[in-house]
Amino acid sequence: MTERVDVTILGGGPVGLFGAFYAGLRGMSVRIIDSLPELGGQLTALYPEKYVYDMPGFPAVLAKDLAQDLVRQASRFQPDLVLEETAQHLRQDADGYVITTHKGTDLPTRTLVISAGAGAFTPTKIGVPREEDLFGKGLAYGVKSKELYRGKDVMIVGGGDSAFDWALNLHPIAKSIKLVHRRDQFRAHEESIRELQSTSAEFHLWKVVAELHGEDHLTGVTLENTQTKEREFHSCDEVVVNIGFKSSLGPLKDWGLTIEKNQIVVDHLYQTNLPGVFAVGDVCNFEGKLKLIATGVGEAATAVCIAKTMIDPTAKLFPGHSSDLDLSAHPASS
Ligand SMILES: Cc1cc2nc3c(=O)[nH]c(=O)nc-3n(C[C@H](O)[C@H](O)[C@H](O)COP(=O)(O)OP(=O)(O)OC[C@H]3O[C@@H](n4cnc5c(N)ncnc54)[C@H](O)[C@@H]3O)c2cc1C
Repeated sequence: MTERVDVTILGGGPVGLFGAFYAGLRGMSVRIIDSLPELGGQLTALYPEKYVYDMPGFPAVLAKDLAQDLVRQASRFQPDLVLEETAQHLRQDADGYVITTHKGTDLPTRTLVISAGAGAFTPTKIGVPREEDLFGKGLAYGVKSKELYRGKDVMIVGGGDSAFDWALNLHPIAKSIKLVHRRDQFRAHEESIRELQSTSAEFHLWKVVAELHGEDHLTGVTLENTQTKEREFHSCDEVVVNIGFKSSLGPLKDWGLTIEKNQIVVDHLYQTNLPGVFAVGDVCNFEGKLKLIATGVGEAATAVCIAKTMIDPTAKLFPGHSSDLDLSAHPASS
């Protein structure tokens, strides 16, 4: 049985990541669950190459850089990470709650902070036979560890920022990079397009993946020209698909939470109608709610502090100032 944590953060977007950091700061054991392989929520999945201008102290910060720093900040307290698992069921038990993921993993927790944004992100699939079989065996919808791609022939499918970002990131370590896109127009940042065009990466345009080959592991891909319907085989070791995401509040709707217009209703302490369950960030609603990162992270800090006092009634609500702490024993990851 997985260890019971003091607080589970459901959703590893910017608000959840800051909540995880704050829980660590308060000496709580923390688990983050996200349906995606990568942390960062909308910052990473939807607009990694856009500048954000309304972060306190950052005149301009790229969304992907902000996500990376939020991950580093949360990593100080080494939260337990459960990635690529969608929280499906919630049941109350004597010590809090047990969350069960779509893979059947039971994750016990004393309290729960839901920072699920617009719901679980799931990557858009390419929709070809054998896709499910080869998932995790050469086929991925994001990059969990760059090292996996070292010395490999890699195909990246997609024409947006994420596809270009991964192609540029993996190019220095992969044996070869092929970028496959159904059109000759890209949705990526112009600078990224120019940068990748200046490398040895091959562009396969007006093409889609028609077949995946391999038994225990992917060995190659058949591409189809969207106009001529001509097909060609390419051997490759890894395919990274980056063609967008769908989001759905889905399972959370059956947890007995009060939900109005796809948002969880909370009180002034970000408490839901379930005891010990909070909702913060884009997923919650209250009078005056702003769907912004700057306000969401404040909600997360408050929710975590209330959760702390529930677990330990002797704990103060006010955490004190972080600048008074010595965090040298908890370095942020590099
Ligand atoms: C194009 C664009 C530009 C933006 N620009 C700005 C800006 O400049 N400034 C600003 O403040 N805001 C901006 N926003 C809004 C900002 O991104 C959101 O307010 C912020 O991401 C909300 O953070 P969050 O952590 O609440 O949710 P999200 O970032 O949505 O993260 C939620 C996470 O929860 C996960 N999740 C949900 N349900 C489950 C489940 N059942 N199981 C497992 N995982 C689950 C999802 O996969 C996701 O990763 C922008 C948004 C967009 C789309």
